[in-house]
Amino acid sequence: MKIFLATGNKKKIDEMSKILDGLKFEILSIKDGIEIPEVVEDGDTFEENSRKKALEIAKFTNMITISDDSGLCVEALDGAPGVYSARYAGEDSSDVENNKKLIENLQGVKNRKAKFVTVITLGKPNGESYSFRGEIEGIVIDEARGKDGFGYDPHFYLSEYDKTFAEMPEIKNQISHRARALKALKDGIDKILNIG
Ligand code: IMP
Repeated sequence: MKIFLATGNKKKIDEMSKILDGLKFEILSIKDGIEIPEVVEDGDTFEENSRKKALEIAKFTNMITISDDSGLCVEALDGAPGVYSARYAGEDSSDVENNKKLIENLQGVKNRKAKFVTVITLGKPNGESYSFRGEIEGIVIDEARGKDGFGYDPHFYLSEYDKTFAEMPEIKNQISHRARALKALKDGIDKILNIG
């Protein structure tokens, strides 16, 4: 059986393929030359966006499709940037611009609690879908630390490791929001697809 990973982000394809390794499915993505249309992420929740992406691409490819939608939710900002994480500083904004806006908005704010959230959805061409949520809590720090990762990683600090996500890519891949949601999917996939 073939499963398609619906993301244009090659770093994510690698990360997701590693976690899904060991499943008895052939994992395909844009890396195999399959082109996919852009899906407009206009939902108010991670669940809506993730489900929309999975179902539109499943219909387009006629394959079982896995999508993800993620973002950073900061407690003192009432959950922002949330579903707007990729475009917090405006349409087509860069990671540097988004991080700058985040740190500016937190100046003078003591409560730095935040969480990364991912919702992974498995969508079938027949319209059925199954979603799994993964979260990880951390602290937003002013200083950017570390060179790995992407997005808000250099400012997302975990006190138990005394490191940001950008300083520990290997550990990030095991404990991240995305890893947790994908592991939940991995545990449930045989049942979803009726495979013994
Ligand atoms: P996406 O839905 O996974 O593409 O994520 C939307 C935005 O959330 C990204 O552009 C990043 O700014 C942010 N984001 C999502 N996951 C991560 C992560 O693992 N590290 C840092 N930033 C992330």
